[in-house]
Amino acid sequence: MKSVDLIVPCYNEAEVLPIFYDEVCSVTSKLPDFNFNFIFVDDGSRDATLEVIINLAAKDSRVRYISFSRNFGKEAAMLAGMKYSGGEYVCILDADLQHSPSLVADMLACLETEPQYDVAAARRIDREGEAKFKSLLSKGFYKIINSLSSVDIPESAQDFRVMRRNVVDAVISMPEYNRFSKGIFSWVGFNTKWFAHENRERAAGETKWSLQSLLRYSLDGIIGFSTAPLKIPLYTGAAIGGLGVAYALYLIIYFIARPHSALGLPLAVCGMLMLCGLVLFSLGIIGGYVARIYLEVKNRPIFIVDKTNIAADGDKTR
Ligand code: UDP
Ligand code: MG
Repeated sequence: MKSVDLIVPCYNEAEVLPIFYDEVCSVTSKLPDFNFNFIFVDDGSRDATLEVIINLAAKDSRVRYISFSRNFGKEAAMLAGMKYSGGEYVCILDADLQHSPSLVADMLACLETEPQYDVAAARRIDREGEAKFKSLLSKGFYKIINSLSSVDIPESAQDFRVMRRNVVDAVISMPEYNRFSKGIFSWVGFNTKWFAHENRERAAGETKWSLQSLLRYSLDGIIGFSTAPLKIPLYTGAAIGGLGVAYALYLIIYFIARPHSALGLPLAVCGMLMLCGLVLFSLGIIGGYVARIYLEVKNRPIFIVDKTNIAADGDKTR
């Protein structure tokens, strides 16, 4: 029997976890050919999430958990789940039931019958139920990142996926601190079969993403997977410098022809403002990279585990 680890990042999900567990169990009970295990990652929740998980673990030996010392973010939670997993298949899905557990059966069936695929991943087919502004921003972000980066990052790709062990090992081998999993999943390669997936409403609780956290995450994506923005100051600087030289030449000729005309003070102020803006913008881009290099160089752990019922070696003997 093949083992499947279901990795579930949880941050303040006490309300939805029992519903999630029941729904997933009703799916797994129909798949007797697989040996399922849950790996709940409590990402420093402030509510009763950990208690709920420990209660589940007490009545179901398939329930494993990792609890962080504080909130490290979903990226860290997914990485911890993968590091602690030992299953031949690893599935990542959200706790809020927005990722339909029933699709896991189709994903597993695909990987079992189609050996040419190593990943079965969900691709959302609509952005219904999402604020217009948020979906516009998201579309813009993927346009920018795909034009800047050499790695193709599909707009609608979700973290919801089943991977073979070799893919999981490849993902774990990427040690970066500023993690952007959609980029990492694309970067490691492997053949992916896409499954159309309609996003459902959250079963309970509320989203953990604010506009600010989404913007920060987008910047991690762009800076992590493209160095093109570093060239923006170079090219715009050269272009504006060139314009400045041309303008100076024009002024010299102009004053030779009409020696008594007044200087264009407003024009000069305007030019200064533009240049100041450009310099600050360039510094901002460089600052973004330097800040991330700083964090990478520090080589801090991506997460810190407080409590777990999984052996330190990742329970690979299972
Ligand atoms: N999550 C997490 N750590 C965080 C934020 C979110 O582990 O800091 C988990 C959360 O519990 C959920 C999943 O990541 O299982 C997706 O989060 P959410 O539903 O808030 O995001 P959305 O679906 O709104 O994009
Ligand atoms: Mg959600």
